[in-house]
Amino acid sequence: MSKLIQSIRGMHDILPQDSGAWHWLETVARNILERYGYQEIRMPLVEKTELFKRSIGEVTDIVEKEMYSFQDRNGESLSLRPEGTAGCVRAGLQHGLLYGQQQRLWYQGPMFRHERPQKGRYRQFHQIGVETFGFAGPQIEAELIALSARLWHALGLPEFRLEINSLGSPEARRVYREQLVNFYRGHFDELDADSQRRLESNPLRILDSKHPQMQALNAQAPSLQAYLDDASQAHFEQLQQSLDALQIAYTVNPRLVRGLDYYSHTVFEWITDELGAQGTVCAGGRYDGLVTQLGGKPVPAAGFALGVERLLELARAHNTEVGRLSPHAYLILAGRDAEREGAVLAEQLRSDLPGLRLVMNASGGSFKAQMKRADKSGAAYALILGDNEIEQQTISLKPLRTEQFVQQAYAYAALCDKLSELIGVE
Ligand code: ATP
Ligand code: MG
Repeated sequence: MSKLIQSIRGMHDILPQDSGAWHWLETVARNILERYGYQEIRMPLVEKTELFKRSIGEVTDIVEKEMYSFQDRNGESLSLRPEGTAGCVRAGLQHGLLYGQQQRLWYQGPMFRHERPQKGRYRQFHQIGVETFGFAGPQIEAELIALSARLWHALGLPEFRLEINSLGSPEARRVYREQLVNFYRGHFDELDADSQRRLESNPLRILDSKHPQMQALNAQAPSLQAYLDDASQAHFEQLQQSLDALQIAYTVNPRLVRGLDYYSHTVFEWITDELGAQGTVCAGGRYDGLVTQLGGKPVPAAGFALGVERLLELARAHNTEVGRLSPHAYLILAGRDAEREGAVLAEQLRSDLPGLRLVMNASGGSFKAQMKRADKSGAAYALILGDNEIEQQTISLKPLRTEQFVQQAYAYAALCDKLSELIGVE
């Protein structure tokens, strides 16, 4: 036998026992997004490499080291999407969704980054992304934060820490940038190699460095807050007032910058202490400059993306049963006649009880073997069709998880009534 082919490192199958939890999280998120008036958009997984270079920025970890880029058969450079915002803006421009209107959009799906795989960090991972266009004020930022807070609550997750910051206007940032470069020049020998390289190309990114040797130095670096112009300051204060009014707790972290170049004004992160170094479960902010960066006219924009794997990890730690969807009943078919009539009975039950989750035994087996399968399926009840039942035109019902009753035979109509009563389906 030849060697078995394995999946790619950092790219994982979602196995049957886990897909229920994914479905649960996606459903909860979708419901909340719909309640706030957000509409789903679906973009391709592959875009032109140029799109990500122009949006995320050439001198960012993602574009420099993490993208899966390749030449297609026409020699064009394409990349698997490392995030969804760029594609969403591209689609919005292409289909005329951005000008003279307001949009609340969301999407979900896999993203691809060639990072070092570890717990909470994968090469194919999943995000739910939320993007808004045409809202210039801080109200929409507060809405995005309130919406995400509602989601954590609906998922039964522990309290996360909310950190916010303002990166100010591009002009304010230009002045600050100079001060920052001066500061780091004075400490050049203390910078790690990446930060030395970034000093000229992208000094703000140094503040985001995860390198341990940079933490102490970054704590001494000048703070952007001092350079915010009045309008940026007012915008940021209004956001804080909204959060106060909504009773959403936050801390202002003046060193919070994002790993992508397109943010301005508000940035925020939801962080947990339960996932070690991979503690950011959701990150976002305002990115008014991005639409022009991609060739459009200016459009205010704000959004966030959350990491589905990290949230599921937490959900599992707090509630092991999340999303498990067991059948209500397992239909046991004992004998030739039962096998012949079983499929018809199962279809009839599914038609008459639309909410019923029913698994029918297939491909035979002894009564005992079928009972074992029924138990393993997680079903709450076994339905038994055997020679006796066929003769008497009944179906037997047997609880598998409780001792409500031992076993009872019902005519078809009475069985339907009993099942709806037991499992609450119409
Ligand atoms: P980090 O600092 O953890 O690398 P990031 O700043 O690169 O995160 P974003 O690009 O803002 O992350 O993505 C938003 C969210 O997506 C993150 O907060 C995280 O929850 C999730 N995420 C990002 N990269 C990965 C990954 N490689 N594996 C799993 N989840 C990820
Ligand atoms: Mg990253």
